[in-house]
Amino acid sequence: MKIKFLELTNTSARFVLSDATPAEANALRRTLLSEIPKLAIDKVEILLGNIRDESGKEYESVTPLFDEIIVHRLAMVPLPTDLSMKFPSECGCKGEGCQSCSVIYTINKKGPGMVYSGDLIPLGDPKFKPVDDLIPIVKINEKQAVLLYATAIMGRAKEHAKWQVAHAVGYKYYPDVKINGEKCTGCTECINSCPKKVFENQDGKVVAKTVDACDLCGACVEACPKGALSVTGSEKDFIFTFETDGSLSAKAALIKALDILSTSFGRVKDTLSMLG
Ligand SMILES: [Zn+2]
Repeated sequence: MKIKFLELTNTSARFVLSDATPAEANALRRTLLSEIPKLAIDKVEILLGNIRDESGKEYESVTPLFDEIIVHRLAMVPLPTDLSMKFPSECGCKGEGCQSCSVIYTINKKGPGMVYSGDLIPLGDPKFKPVDDLIPIVKINEKQAVLLYATAIMGRAKEHAKWQVAHAVGYKYYPDVKINGEKCTGCTECINSCPKKVFENQDGKVVAKTVDACDLCGACVEACPKGALSVTGSEKDFIFTFETDGSLSAKAALIKALDILSTSFGRVKDTLSMLG
C-alpha cells in the first residue's frame, strides 16, 4: 500500500491510496471512523445551590436547559488528544482516574451571557484547552450560573460518537479516462457534459486535464460518439478523503489508523503461524 497526498491541512486530507485492494481501502475507512482513540468528556458533576460572588451578588446554579442536554453538549466538544494517554480500563490506576488516563475540566461562569466551550478550563496542563473556543453550550440569564467539574477520558467511536475523530470518510476508485484519438471527432461535447470540468480544449484537441476530479458518472461517455471515450475505475488505486474534528491532526489520525491496522493484522498473522 502506498499513500500520496493530494491535499493536506491540519484537519483534512485527500490522498491517493495505491497498490491496495477494495477490502484494504474499506478496512482503512472503518478504522478511521471507529477505532482511533480520542479524549472526550465522560462524567460531569454539576454543583447546585446558591453562589455568591466577591461583591456579594447572588446567583443560582441553574440553567434554562436540562442537565442532560448540557452534559451531552460538553461531551461532544472536541478536546486535543494526546495519544500517549491510556484507556481507563488499561491504566495502572485500574480505572480510578489518574493523569495517564483522564483530564479534569471546570466551568465557573456567571450570567448573563453564553457559556462557550472555551469556558471549559483544564485543571493541570493547559495543552488540553478545547480546540474551538466558540461552541455555544447554554445561554444563562442575569441570576444564573454554571459551576461544574467534568472528567474527560480516552475512548473509541465504536462506543460513542463523542470519541469520533474522523468525519466524512470516503473513497472512490481512481478514474482511468481514455480518449480514443481515432474515433474522437473533436465535437467537444465531453467538455460541456462533464459536471466536474475534467476535460479541456487544447489547440482543438480534447485532453483529460484533472482526472482525479472525475466521479465516474459517465456523462461524457454518453455525450460522445460511440467508442471515442472510456471511463473506468481502477480497483487497485483509490482517492480517499476525510476530515477530523481537530482533536487530532489529519496526518496524526491517518498514522494512528495505519498503526492500528498493522497491529491487528499482525495478530492475525501470529495466530496463523501458531496454528502451523
Ligand atoms: Zn489512570
